Amino acid sequence: MNKLTHIIKLGWAYKISRTDHPTYPPFQYTIEPTNVCNLSCAFCPQSDPEHHLRRGHGKLTEENFELFLRRIKEADPGNNKINLTLDGEPFLNKNMVRLVELAAAEKFTSVFASNGTLLNRPLIDRLSASGPFHISIDFTAEENAFESMRGQKGHYALVLENLRYLIEKARQNENVNLSINDIASFDGAEPEASLKELKSLFESPPPGRVRFTSRQFHNFCGHLKTTESNRHYRLCPYPWTQLAVTYNGDCVACCRDTAARTVLGNVFEKTVMEIWTGEAYRRMRRNLLDRKPELNAACADCDLPYSGGEIRWRIKYMLNSLLGR
Ligand code: SF4
Repeated sequence: MNKLTHIIKLGWAYKISRTDHPTYPPFQYTIEPTNVCNLSCAFCPQSDPEHHLRRGHGKLTEENFELFLRRIKEADPGNNKINLTLDGEPFLNKNMVRLVELAAAEKFTSVFASNGTLLNRPLIDRLSASGPFHISIDFTAEENAFESMRGQKGHYALVLENLRYLIEKARQNENVNLSINDIASFDGAEPEASLKELKSLFESPPPGRVRFTSRQFHNFCGHLKTTESNRHYRLCPYPWTQLAVTYNGDCVACCRDTAARTVLGNVFEKTVMEIWTGEAYRRMRRNLLDRKPELNAACADCDLPYSGGEIRWRIKYMLNSLLGR
């Protein structure tokens, strides 16, 4: 389906008809290469000692990834972007470069987030040759703040070097696209000044291929104890836009549901459309339409429906987020 038609159908279903039964396929697909991580960042559920008790550890296999790509093509032959992100650090799956290569062979651009600590020059060289990708890495200019948020010391210089090398590759190779996300606001820093400081660490990054953003934080379905004073309810768009899948094929509520609190079907066993239009998905949407997020395990403690006038509700932000991922 062409992107414009897709966005119109999605907008109509979510905003105008408010149906629990969309007839179009998901706009975005995301699958995790692994749910294991080598860090325990304060803002991430990986820092919760009980996080892995909920669903254990695992890795996506090449075969299952190929099956997922086929499922996407069946549902929406026009789709050409695959997100390789949910929980975990993707490069802890030793096949990560191969996954990007398999996606490229099917004409997909891979989009993923990494903490950047497992990269090195040879790996970045292999990745750059494997196919088009957009990598997103969190960083901040202030070393002590970075290391305390990351939960481990000793990675600042390494990540900085990897970012500089990725920028160098982006200058030469159009496969390489990079977002550097400033996380300083989590530590209380003023976002604009901090972003400026972050940019100053890098010399003339190629415009268009390298972006700098200030990361918007959310509470990961209750991982962070936010106290929302705003009781104005807004309908979450994710169940109308995105199919999020764990390494073992379980479709979960959205990209925030890293603990797989709400499972809506298994995409290695059923087609995308069987799950997307199935009763479990429809019930989740109905609960949100009825303003009862508490009836969905994942949504019960999520801060999104009550996140007031935040930037993420602006149309421009939503469209950028839809098209950028
Ligand atoms: S309300 Fe929160 S947990 Fe539920 S689908 Fe939306 S973003 Fe995900």
